[in-house]
Amino acid sequence: MRIGIAGLGTVGSCVYAILSEKGDDIEKRSGRRCTVSKVITRTRSKYAKLGIPSDLIAEDFEDLIINSDIVVETIGGTEAARKLVKQSLELNRTVVTANKMLISEFGNDFSGSSTIKSLFFEAAVGGGIPIISLLEDYLIFHGIKRIRGILNGTTNFILSEMQKGMGYQEALRLAQERGYAEADPSSDVKGLDAAYKLSVLTGIKTGIFPGIATIETKGIEGIDKLDIERAADEGRKIKLIGTIDFEKEGAYVRPQELERDDPLWSVDGVENAIEVETDLSGRFILRGEGAGAQPTATAIISDILRASRYAEKQSNSVVIMKFGGTSVDTPEKIRDVAKRVQRKVQSGVKPVLVVSAMGVETDTLYELAGEISSKPNGREMDMLLATGEQKSIALVAMAIQELGMKSISLSANQARIQTDSNFSNARIVSIDADLVSRHISNGYVPVVAGFQGSTYTGEITTLGRGGSDLTAVVLAKALGSQLCEIYKDVDGVYSADPRIVEDARPIKEISWEEMIELSKQGAQVLQSRASEFARKYDIKVLVKNAHTNARGTLIWRGSKVEQPIVRAVTSDQDIVKVVLQEVPDRPGIAARVLKTLTEQNVNIDMIIQSMRSGDFNTMAFTVQASDLAKLKQDILKSRSEAREITIERAIAKISIVGVNLTATPAIAATLFETLANEGINIDMISASNSRISVVIDSKKVRLAVNAIHSAFSLGEIE
Ligand code: ADP
Ligand code: ASP
Ligand code: MG
Repeated sequence: MRIGIAGLGTVGSCVYAILSEKGDDIEKRSGRRCTVSKVITRTRSKYAKLGIPSDLIAEDFEDLIINSDIVVETIGGTEAARKLVKQSLELNRTVVTANKMLISEFGNDFSGSSTIKSLFFEAAVGGGIPIISLLEDYLIFHGIKRIRGILNGTTNFILSEMQKGMGYQEALRLAQERGYAEADPSSDVKGLDAAYKLSVLTGIKTGIFPGIATIETKGIEGIDKLDIERAADEGRKIKLIGTIDFEKEGAYVRPQELERDDPLWSVDGVENAIEVETDLSGRFILRGEGAGAQPTATAIISDILRASRYAEKQSNSVVIMKFGGTSVDTPEKIRDVAKRVQRKVQSGVKPVLVVSAMGVETDTLYELAGEISSKPNGREMDMLLATGEQKSIALVAMAIQELGMKSISLSANQARIQTDSNFSNARIVSIDADLVSRHISNGYVPVVAGFQGSTYTGEITTLGRGGSDLTAVVLAKALGSQLCEIYKDVDGVYSADPRIVEDARPIKEISWEEMIELSKQGAQVLQSRASEFARKYDIKVLVKNAHTNARGTLIWRGSKVEQPIVRAVTSDQDIVKVVLQEVPDRPGIAARVLKTLTEQNVNIDMIIQSMRSGDFNTMAFTVQASDLAKLKQDILKSRSEAREITIERAIAKISIVGVNLTATPAIAATLFETLANEGINIDMISASNSRISVVIDSKKVRLAVNAIHSAFSLGEIE
């Protein structure tokens, strides 16, 4: 289990220390290895003080969440903590927190649709006293009639000292001196702290956290020496008691006078005690230290162990790691990949690799085929292309074995990745995940060939260029894995192609919609079919550098935003423009043109029809250059009745991609103005909510992309 700790105050540091020092012991007793995988805290000097290695320091919350199975929140407060917990749960992480205020006031927001328990907060009530485990686990089938207790150590200490003769102010000062009370003690002495705890306990039983506004609360500020003495004369003690009466549906915190035979009578000083009254087994009483770093950390560790049982079920700890051609193009890089896999295994993750052909192998194979045939047969072509991945998976498996781990390479046929028989662009029909799973449970690191598939008759197919990405996300879905990591030669998805724009910057997070647009509009990074599949099945993808520890780009549902955001600019030079000159201006012609293109399986992107001149129009559309071969120009010419068809090749499409781009015309205006300032003419325009594209002269691509990148300040920190 990978544990991420947010907040390194007294409690957080204590959790870190226990996990680092007692890790072996905990593993021996629980059978689970819990390793701290990332930490984050506001005061950076803490890292050096606690001797935390630099690769454990998270860049931000997401970095922490992505690299942990269990997120421990010990930040406190409700602002940052709430954001962290929410996002962790959204990303299917299990969360452990000690934050009673957070659970009391916002706990209801966190209970999502998931049936698997993913939020643990034993430490929120009663410090080291296992009251929540008692209620949730041990007494799970009991009816709880009443909970009553001394829930706040500070006030109990003050009252105990007053019992011995001190005045209120004097006792409070002593509590502060001993570190039992904070400089501003109001939350404790007003009874609010106890009320938060009652709200949390109520939520455990009823599933709804009522919040403290519904709890009648009276603190100890009004109590003076005389009250204490009078009670003592009558043989009683005053204590601050929190009560939830489930039968009468009431909850309150108030000072009460206890008789000598009350089980809470002898609970003095900073101790806490809680009494639970059940229908089947009578009363239970728990008593112990209610606060302090050590008891609270103890409760957190016990939650981590409880949580790990659930987290294991939830994620199986399987992570897909896909390595692109550039990451495996030399033996050194393959050895690097194996080392990275080893580190992953050591952190408790079970990796499944998907690997592309080495370097430009696929291109080389294409060229080779071209030397033999100008129109190679589809089946033979796929037979040839698939060898690229067959070679690389064997080498990667060997490199992993060299490091003393078990690994097995699997072709698409062996991994049972079944496709239809549409050679060169096959669709995946099914994956038999059982087989890969069996290898995982036998301790192997499976290395699956990307890009290829196998039909039910055993024919070898391929999934289209960049198809290893698709193999990776489909496997992630089939194995129910929590994350699909795509390793590249760059730090993630950039605000522009880093080969074109020098100050392009990796984007931290991006939605699938945006990624699909980016892929379609020319950014290689991720195959668009892979992004579409990931969106459909809610698979989170992390694009990372294979050679560094940079945090990478998270592609997922995305955070909700209202404001328009321009996220990236991209260019596509692989397009051509088909112009139908002098098409008769008659209803039905455009429909006929599109029908013809559909028949010929030619996809078009932008389309325009110019103003009519005389009885004629000019119609133009763009197609992918690779589709041009499929276009039967003579048929199109006769059906459209065009005078002539001309093809323009020296064009390129530039697109900006983001969120809500059409919400205001200002964005398009900036785009057009930027191009105008550079003297670049716009030939065609198209816009959707997540993209605005223009067609320009292909010689101007570099200039245009750079100008747009700086006009929208895309190189600046998010
Ligand atoms: P792989 O072999 O890992 O599949 P690709 O060659 O398919 O890698 O894609 C990675 C390349 O995509 C990078 O080297 C980068 O130059 C290029 N690229 C283009 N646009 C972008 C972008 N917006 N962000 C990141 N990389 C981009
Ligand atoms: N090797 C294949 C290609 O170059 C598949 C991939 O790399 O994703 O397209
Ligand atoms: Mg690729």
